Amino acid sequence: MPDRMPMSPAEFDAAVRRFEQRFAGTMHQTSGTRSIKGNADAKGHEFSKHLYGMAADYILTTPNVVAHNSMMRFAARLGFWVKRYDWGIHLQGLPTGPIPYWWWVKYGEGHAAEKVGAEHLGELVRSDAV
Ligand SMILES: [Zn+2]
Repeated sequence: MPDRMPMSPAEFDAAVRRFEQRFAGTMHQTSGTRSIKGNADAKGHEFSKHLYGMAADYILTTPNVVAHNSMMRFAARLGFWVKRYDWGIHLQGLPTGPIPYWWWVKYGEGHAAEKVGAEHLGELVRSDAV
């Protein structure tokens, strides 16, 4: 069970802006929204949230453990799901794994991953019977 709700695209964009303002000049973005081909070229995960415009990657201009730790803490406080890499940080506004079906219906349209198969979606259950 996720311990919190996925972000909406607007919440994700707002949190990214706060993150970028906080660390302006000390890092730069290396990846954002990806096409299916772009994700494959980047060797991104099949379920990558970059496919939904819900992930961003940053590298530190000058590698520095203290700054890296500070970025990790600030990103977690903003509500991101965070992954640390040697080269920097990956932020996403959705939990890892399949996309919540309700989220995909509400926000998924227009993204590359709109075309993905049902295996990318969690909770793929019709609720007609309720
Ligand atoms: Zn990433």
